Amino acid sequence: MKQIKLLTTLLLFSLVLATSCQDNLEKSNAVGPQESSLAALREKISKAHASLPVDVKKNMRQTSQLTLKMHPEYRNIVLKALNVIEPTPCDGNTPINIWLDQQLSDWNSEVIGYVLDFAMLDLPTYDALVFENSSSNQYFGTSGQFTQKLTKGFKDLKRFWNIDSDGIVLAAMHGNMLLNRDRIIRTYVAAFGLDAATAAVFADIVVELANQVPQYRKGDHPIFTFNAFAQSGFDFPPYGVIPDKIIMGDGIMEGFAAIGYGDVAPQAILAHEFGHHIQFQLNLFPDAQSPEGTRRTELMADAYAAYYLSHARGASMQWKRVKQFLSVFFNIGDCSFNSDGHHGTPTQRLAAAEWAYNLANNAQKQGHILTVEQFTALFEQQLPILITK
Ligand SMILES: [Zn+2]
Repeated sequence: MKQIKLLTTLLLFSLVLATSCQDNLEKSNAVGPQESSLAALREKISKAHASLPVDVKKNMRQTSQLTLKMHPEYRNIVLKALNVIEPTPCDGNTPINIWLDQQLSDWNSEVIGYVLDFAMLDLPTYDALVFENSSSNQYFGTSGQFTQKLTKGFKDLKRFWNIDSDGIVLAAMHGNMLLNRDRIIRTYVAAFGLDAATAAVFADIVVELANQVPQYRKGDHPIFTFNAFAQSGFDFPPYGVIPDKIIMGDGIMEGFAAIGYGDVAPQAILAHEFGHHIQFQLNLFPDAQSPEGTRRTELMADAYAAYYLSHARGASMQWKRVKQFLSVFFNIGDCSFNSDGHHGTPTQRLAAAEWAYNLANNAQKQGHILTVEQFTALFEQQLPILITK
């Protein structure tokens, strides 16, 4: 499992937090109204932590700051909003950053501390990554508000692009799994390597936290699911074969809907992730990661998405509207030019999308859809020009 291997490797480089759990417990006055039950919970947390080996404790906190292979920028927004990592100069006050900050305005160090100590940001992601293996019975958004758009979009994408997409699973990631003891236990065991007994102790605490700390909104706070990613299938013993999948978090879609892009964002993010499955099938990912390599595959995924979104036989969206959304989406603070996760500057990403729109616009006259092979070849030709932008 690439992610788990990556996590172990990255542990060595992860950040050391300035605050420890104990510090946060001492600042015990600001969580909310149910003080007496919280006091009992604090004691339980303290005992559970005291009984854990130091390396497990450390591991939980560090792992919770790590990222999946793709789209570290989502995670960076989350960690910056929580003041876990320093903002970079180019983050700016983009609408999505401002919105997330507002959502976190009543979070204090104790509320943040528990999230990190119990890897609560990662539980929904890993639960979906390992255990959501069917597109059936999925709903998207905390109340299913994105289900129709995504289900239709996924069907259209499968029809639009000539890859073998029957086996790709589209699944949701919901923060309310933080209320589900069994799901939490299985995720701690599968993704964090905890033994079942330790996982059960931790799971009980997480369920109580999610229920009792009002800031967590019973797991529905968008920060728990501010993520979307594509994953190619892999063998994960003893769990068996994990299929190709796209995971869509409630939080990221809620955020873009809240700033006015609910009509475009779910389909656009989905189309970009679908683009990564085209790349998996055509074997377009280089063996080793590099900033240039990531930029190429990300700009290409943007281009696949823009072509589909604006094509008359695709989502047939108005380009003006798509472009408005993309310029917000591309401004989510990626100026880490030397990082392996670099996705291209906002200007380059918009140039890639615009190039693809023009292709779609010309193709419309013939009602023709380029094959993935044709489209990719054209993109590779264009790439040197796109990166001069
Ligand atoms: Zn991507």
